[in-house]
Amino acid sequence: MIDTHCHLTFPEFAGRVGEVLAGAAAVGVHSAITISTTTADAIQATELAAMHPRLFATAGVHPLYADSPCDWAELERAGGHPKCVAWGELGLDNYYDTPTAAQQRAVLEAQLAHIRQWTARGLAKPIVIHCRKAFADLVPILRASGLPGDRFVFHCFTGDSLDVRMVLDLGAFVSFTGVLTFPGAPEVRAAAKLVPIDRVMVETDSPFLSPQPVRGVKPNEPRFVVHVAAALAVARGGDPAALNAQLDENAVRFFGAALRQPRLGDS
Ligand SMILES: [Zn+2]
Repeated sequence: MIDTHCHLTFPEFAGRVGEVLAGAAAVGVHSAITISTTTADAIQATELAAMHPRLFATAGVHPLYADSPCDWAELERAGGHPKCVAWGELGLDNYYDTPTAAQQRAVLEAQLAHIRQWTARGLAKPIVIHCRKAFADLVPILRASGLPGDRFVFHCFTGDSLDVRMVLDLGAFVSFTGVLTFPGAPEVRAAAKLVPIDRVMVETDSPFLSPQPVRGVKPNEPRFVVHVAAALAVARGGDPAALNAQLDENAVRFFGAALRQPRLGDS
């Protein structure tokens, strides 16, 4: 299993990333992707990934950091790092009004324009999307970007069935967190049933959103992605082991072969 989205550069994990990844590996979570939120964080994320063989990184500016200093040249450099598997996370967050919608949108559009240039220069990578209460605003912007729809994953999906149809019509992947396990989120479980089996992924979004039955454990950690996968199996029905194998296959197809589970004897 792979935790496709966590934030191991956050202070909650300072000095204990090796221990956290070992704890994940002990329960079968062989790899994790630490997602960046700012230019400085992207550099830190790639440096952290360089220190841990089964940790990968991304490079992007989160909408809630749209008012932080941003250096596109540095972001491109981080994107070129051998352990950097994706751009992101980027998108829109209408739940919070700071940074303003205009600030978020400006950084999103500039970032998509840069990703188009970087793609043309040989850095074609999948793109991790943050979308909170913003599907109707965001999906048309992504469509207009000209980037292929199947290159996007909508991470931490918290929408309903109508929202997920919009995302699937774009051709994107959909990724679920511990929100899927929360009693108050039946609409997220209903949406999870609608995602084709080859376009679904799981993640923790650590240090946030600890899933049931460890919701009280803070911080959340990559090892707890097993609870998200178990909840997905319950929501969708079917064999949990087969679903887990499919989830791994989807993450490898989306993020690249480097994420493949190392075989015994591989270093
Ligand atoms: Zn995140």
